[in-house]
Amino acid sequence: MRVHAGPLRLLVAEIFRAAGCSGDEANRIALDLVLANLVGHDSHGVVRTQRYVEALRAGTVVADGSLETVVDGGAFVVVDGNHGFGQTIGPLACRLGIERASTHGVSVVGLRRSGHLGRIGRYAEMAAAANQVSLHFVNVASSTLVAPFGAVERRMGTNPVSIGMPMGDREPLILDFATSVVAEGKALVALNGGKPIPADALVTPEGMLTGDPAVLYGPTVPGRVPNPHNGEGALRAMGDHKGSGLALMCELLAGALIGSDTAGPPPKEHGNGMLSIYLDVAQVAPDDRAMVDAMTYVDWFVNARPTSADGEVLLPGEPERRRRAEREQNGIELPDASWRSIVETAESVGVAIPPV
Ligand code: NAD
Repeated sequence: MRVHAGPLRLLVAEIFRAAGCSGDEANRIALDLVLANLVGHDSHGVVRTQRYVEALRAGTVVADGSLETVVDGGAFVVVDGNHGFGQTIGPLACRLGIERASTHGVSVVGLRRSGHLGRIGRYAEMAAAANQVSLHFVNVASSTLVAPFGAVERRMGTNPVSIGMPMGDREPLILDFATSVVAEGKALVALNGGKPIPADALVTPEGMLTGDPAVLYGPTVPGRVPNPHNGEGALRAMGDHKGSGLALMCELLAGALIGSDTAGPPPKEHGNGMLSIYLDVAQVAPDDRAMVDAMTYVDWFVNARPTSADGEVLLPGEPERRRRAEREQNGIELPDASWRSIVETAESVGVAIPPV
């Protein structure tokens, strides 16, 4: 199934409007999910529609939320998203961080209890567009999916990290990844018949490495969103002990330190916490030297001899830009199960499926 971004966006927005979001919020969610597909992160794209609508029905995420200020220290702020949609709450928190860094040179924003924040790189992109470097550490309360290095039992979320670096008049560098071998949504895409995940992405209760997503989801029921908490195995942290340590720090920074929720114990309400740091380049590095040095270094970095004759060295953010250009042109390929889940969700809220 290949769908163009425009009609897909309209359909997804219509679903969220019918499910109870305002038109503005429904458009924001649709834009964000379809953009994730466009840049190639199908795990954070329209495959999430059914899960988001179910969360809205269950009351674990609320429509048209706003930020509540908990602590305001000028250059540092702690805000509570009170389980509003991440597509509404995340940009509000990010804009606040950018504003405060414009005033103070640097800022730190602790965002508690947001709905799913989606692709974290989008916040690094927002900051880079304002000529700010940013670092984002995220945890996922109640979402115990990832085993610590050396363990088979789940203790952490897939805890993404993103770092953005503006590069003057060039495209910014946007590093953005889950600290698990793959994001959970990539296991979901694989379970739905999409791109397979690496053979060492998961660990069974017996301690064997596997790429079989059923280890995460257990038995699935047709018409129901597969639940990654039903399986007996776990996702593995990327980079062995290093990724496991980084994911642990995300729990402590984005969960415990800012008063959001950690993955457990005891079981918590589902949501993202995010600790973000913003640095205003014009104030932190007022002469041109920093950018000149950065560009000189980056040119040297990408010119390293590739491992094979047809290989190339890419900068963070480049694969997403390339995929976006290709998918804007040719459309987004969706596995049958992902499309079916969108159709079922549309029907459940009384939205007719237009020809797409
Ligand atoms: P990934 O493994 O595809 O890695 C993406 C990063 O690696 C990007 O910065 C990309 O530019 C870079 N990259 C990819 N190929 C490259 C290459 N050949 N050379 C150089 N750089 C390259 O990403 P992922 O871990 O699957 O994460 C996917 C998305 O899921 C991210 O946007 C992440 O923020 C999001 N996520 C969100 C949550 C949440 O709770 N909100 C949880 C987990 C993940």
